Amino acid sequence: MTSTVEPTVLTREPLLPPADPRAHLTSATTRTVLRIQQELLAGAREYLTGLGFHEMLPPVIGPVTDPGARGAKQVDVDYYGHQYKLMTSAILYKQASLLAFPKIFCIAPNVRLEPLETCNTSRHLAEFHQIDVEMAGASRDEITAVVEGLVRHMVSRAVTRLPGEFEELGRDVSAFTALLGEAFGRITHAEAVAELRDGGHPQSPDAEIDWTGEALISERASKPFFVTDYPKGSRGFYDRESAETAGVLRNFDLLAPEGYGELCSGSEREFDYARIVTRMRETGENPAKYGWYLALVREGIPASAGFGIGVERFTRYVTGLNSAWQANAFPKLPGVVSP
Ligand code: AMP
Ligand code: MG
Repeated sequence: MTSTVEPTVLTREPLLPPADPRAHLTSATTRTVLRIQQELLAGAREYLTGLGFHEMLPPVIGPVTDPGARGAKQVDVDYYGHQYKLMTSAILYKQASLLAFPKIFCIAPNVRLEPLETCNTSRHLAEFHQIDVEMAGASRDEITAVVEGLVRHMVSRAVTRLPGEFEELGRDVSAFTALLGEAFGRITHAEAVAELRDGGHPQSPDAEIDWTGEALISERASKPFFVTDYPKGSRGFYDRESAETAGVLRNFDLLAPEGYGELCSGSEREFDYARIVTRMRETGENPAKYGWYLALVREGIPASAGFGIGVERFTRYVTGLNSAWQANAFPKLPGVVSP
């Protein structure tokens, strides 16, 4: 269904990477964006290690990976005759890593063969990175407080240290006044659906907020905001279901203002063996494939909550770029052959 209302960010002219990697790597814009990105990542490490999080190096291949990527295909790797996968996200390893340390993070590459039609959405790369965080024993409120503090710290450090770079890109840092000075907003998925439907956008109450809907609510905001309580069918088996309200997940997304849309997804996690197996079956996953993970879960893994911030999307928002690929040195757009 098409919406009667069109967000302006989605209708911006699609801009593709230059075919020549030299042109991209030597462009003044790329260098400036990557300098800001480096500052954001340094800020993330500073903030998280300051809170006692332990940085882990992320695995890149494994027998299974996150099945919850909206419509994206996984990439197979021949691992000595076994079919392994490139990581679509670090979720299974994040939960397992809590057996070593109670608070962990990693900055991890993810590969998702997104549908061809996402090539010019400005948001989709086939290879991207996440700042992936997991904390044992945390509630949703505790983990969203970490997200909020982290985002504020990263942006604050970048705008303080690199004012010239923001000016070069024409990004007015007054866009971050509310982000730096006020608590982030918070609405439930049901409230977001009602707002969109009232505004003439036919958003389904049982699904992820679609991309047009996401851009619409994002465009109306003046600061980042959390959308909480997504319906069960819309997410992977690892987002914990509410004990009080069946069918509602204890999860959240963080959306940027100005139409940039989703920056981060997170949740309290499911950690109970029987419930995970049930959720796997409900989401069409074969539990037999998840041998190593389920063996750990059966013996016990900590309850936790965590999140992943998309590095390129976050950099795009902070720098005010047209497209997420501009925040990657070797951008891979869905379907486009590139280095
Ligand atoms: P997800 O597990 O799909 O919620 O992804 C976690 C975060 O990674 C999202 O909030 C985005 O910021 C980012 N992300 C997801 N898919 C892509 C993609 N195809 N290209 C770039 N960033 C992505
Ligand atoms: Mg998400």
